[in-house]
Amino acid sequence: MIDLERYEVWFVTGSQHLYGDEVLRQVDDDAKRIAKSVGGSDSIAVKVVTQPAQTTPDAIRNLCAAANAATDCVGLILWMHTFSPAKMWIGGLKELHKPFVHLHTQFNRDIPWSTIDMDFMNLNQSAHGDREFGYLCTRMGLSRKVIVGHWQDPEVVGKLGTWSRAACARHDAQGARIARIGDNMRDVAVTEGDKVEAEMRFGYAVNGYGLGDVVACVESVGESAVDTLVQQYDELYDVAASLRPSGERRGSLRDAARIELGLRAFLEDGGFKAFTDTFENLHGLKQLPGIAVQRLMADGYGFGAEGDWKTAALVRAMKVMATGLAGGTSFMEDYTYHLDPDGMKVLGAHMLEICPSIALGGRKPSLEIHPLSIGGKEDPVRLVFDASTGPAVNATLVDMGDRFRMVVNEVEVVPPDQPLPNLPVARAVWLPHPELKTAAAAWILAGGAHHTSFSQALTVAHLEDLAEIAGVELLTIGDTTSLAEFRKELRWNEVYYGRAGRR
Ligand code: MN
Repeated sequence: MIDLERYEVWFVTGSQHLYGDEVLRQVDDDAKRIAKSVGGSDSIAVKVVTQPAQTTPDAIRNLCAAANAATDCVGLILWMHTFSPAKMWIGGLKELHKPFVHLHTQFNRDIPWSTIDMDFMNLNQSAHGDREFGYLCTRMGLSRKVIVGHWQDPEVVGKLGTWSRAACARHDAQGARIARIGDNMRDVAVTEGDKVEAEMRFGYAVNGYGLGDVVACVESVGESAVDTLVQQYDELYDVAASLRPSGERRGSLRDAARIELGLRAFLEDGGFKAFTDTFENLHGLKQLPGIAVQRLMADGYGFGAEGDWKTAALVRAMKVMATGLAGGTSFMEDYTYHLDPDGMKVLGAHMLEICPSIALGGRKPSLEIHPLSIGGKEDPVRLVFDASTGPAVNATLVDMGDRFRMVVNEVEVVPPDQPLPNLPVARAVWLPHPELKTAAAAWILAGGAHHTSFSQALTVAHLEDLAEIAGVELLTIGDTTSLAEFRKELRWNEVYYGRAGRR
């Protein structure tokens, strides 16, 4: 359901008329060559579309208006090949609503020391041309990323790829519909928030739906569709004996399949990209959706439990950014600690709803049924598995009252110290960076939620770019985090956001 290949970033080169037609033709040719090279890299998931070199204020204004209107254009790469007097850019950039990255590169990597003359100098002017442009962007207070280096440098291309993924997530959120099925878990604070501000800031609309709307979809699912889906379950998963065709709980598996089909139909009919539910509001459903939510997440839907629409939207954004990359992305919760001084760990899990995209490869997830201690419904069916190991990030988005704040922690997923035969939910065990005491203290001081979006496909860089594009506060917790410095950052940010606030 997520396709990044249809999206475009526009490669736009700035210049000016003074150089004459011959130089401008060369500028255009060079730009095409760079765009083709960058666009052909595996690091970039979107199309890179070259635009003609920009030499007048009117052309720049028209280009920015066209970018705003282009439905598949997620953002722009801007590069001043030659000097491009930056007042020409004011009108266009004032109107531009798409994010842009300033690529500070030079067509020729090296100075040809023995042959360099003024012709070469005039075609390799970005060292000063991009500074003129940078001044204007800073003067205008424009949020953007600046990437420095030669265009064939894999690190530069990689950064463009990361940024373009964040631009795709931002684009995906514009006009996105998020279904809040039921409301919030009663009395919970962190899952609440300002949906009006969220729509203004991020572009997605969160609206509430009665569970009855979903139940109607579940009840209209035909028996043959249920037959087909439970057969798929039988093939895809290691099905517990009681849930197999002759098992005594087969009826519960059919109920779970019916819930998946009904929920999927509800989401498809409504054009939703993410959703929430809450175990306190299950009237008309036999079980809390478990495998249904897990499989919908695996198909690209964002999800947040207990009405957590901010996390649902963040899971969706991170799934967009992670499309095509190795490693999964899931709704997650810091559930239980292992406080052994030799390696303090977090066991991440939820009541049911962990996405099988993060499952350890090589074996089928186990499809099981167990009681749920809260909610008062029939036992829910769920997929149980361990997460694959390696680096990952946990990200949260909280509403501070006057702004949104994103907090990201780098973690290392490790195998559980021992098998967990009695744990009836999917889980990931990780060592937070720099270590649990500092990471958890920083997270708590920052007001980070217990729910997160967890990803093995993304790095802090993706979330930095996303936060920059959305204009949202970002706090990162990683190897270099010191609590003393982190506390200062929190205090300074209060002042910064108090003043710069909602620009
Ligand atoms: Mn929860």
